[in-house]
Amino acid sequence: MDDLRFSSLTTEDSVSRLALIGVILGIKPAFMGDEEEYFEEYQEAGRRLGLRILLTRRPPTDRYLFRTPRVPASFIEAFHGMGVSRERRTVWAYREGKVLEGISRSVAGRLNEGFVLGYPECCVRRYDEDRVVFLENIYNHIINRYHPDGDRAAVRILLTDPPVPPPNNPVRESFRSFPFISYIACHACLDGSSEKSGRLSSAFAQVAAQTGLDQTIRASIMKFLSGQGGTRAGTT
Ligand SMILES: [Zn+2]
Repeated sequence: MDDLRFSSLTTEDSVSRLALIGVILGIKPAFMGDEEEYFEEYQEAGRRLGLRILLTRRPPTDRYLFRTPRVPASFIEAFHGMGVSRERRTVWAYREGKVLEGISRSVAGRLNEGFVLGYPECCVRRYDEDRVVFLENIYNHIINRYHPDGDRAAVRILLTDPPVPPPNNPVRESFRSFPFISYIACHACLDGSSEKSGRLSSAFAQVAAQTGLDQTIRASIMKFLSGQGGTRAGTT
């Protein structure tokens, strides 16, 4: 697998490398990398592999395409406006032009990008539901704790950065069970009632072993699980 060596890459972002190789092997239809410090590297690695590269706006994070959170619209808007100071970009790498429609729909906020990236539908839906519940929990926490007088008061409290309940998606369990996938697996995949993530993870595990990426990925996950940092870059 000499042609899959990224010798000029300086990054230790092994998960991105594995995901890019997954695209060329047809395990997933597209790669999306949104850590700006790695943009040059994603593009160079993609080109070395013969993938097509596209730079776009990042798909919006303020859309809920399966279920709308039961909170006021102004609260959703304020929540997603927090800490955003400029438009974010993302690098896509793909092999076949037929994914372009999906890329364009996800950048427009009309399709969850997880589908373009080949994530199982069960995991995409569950992750999105966890986002909805997270936002609802924050809202309910503010209502129950501070009893704000109306929506504007609730937004004002949100923007003063009150303590909020942690998100409840199974990130640690997912890393532990499926170290080679680049999304958070759903409970059905984790308890074995869906085989989707297990199958994808096995396909990636095989490639990781062949390309020598398995040890570095396992090491960075161990580091993450033991709480010593080493979180994975926001790449998929
Ligand atoms: Zn799943």
